[in-house]
Amino acid sequence: MGCGRYRKLHYAARDRSLSDRELEFLERHETACPECAKSMRHATDALDFLRMSALEPETTTNFNDRILRRHKVESVRASVRYWSPAMLGAVAAGLTLLAAMQMIAQSSHLPIFKVPASEARLTSPAIPSLDRLNLQSSWQ
Ligand SMILES: [Zn+2]
Repeated sequence: MGCGRYRKLHYAARDRSLSDRELEFLERHETACPECAKSMRHATDALDFLRMSALEPETTTNFNDRILRRHKVESVRASVRYWSPAMLGAVAAGLTLLAAMQMIAQSSHLPIFKVPASEARLTSPAIPSLDRLNLQSSWQ
């Protein structure tokens, strides 16, 4: 009697607009088959009820505030994630600069590493001083 086709078309009517022939078939079958008409009415009611409950969200009072706060947190997090390598580089460069300035400013206080074996000391004059008077007298 076409009950299967009726159900199929009835469900398809939710997703697309039916042609005139299909609509005519639906009307004809509803008048001829009260069982199909009843079950489809129940199905439609149930679906409408479900749709209504699904589309009415329970909004809390501070819903917008929470959404905005979450958006801010997300944007801050994203910017931190984006800039963190540059920040780390800047911190490292700053520390290096600070250390260099300390070394330049206090270079006289830096510990001097003495390695005794490699140290050259001048214990006596390297070039013997010539006694000029003595030299002149010897030439004469
Ligand atoms: Zn039927």
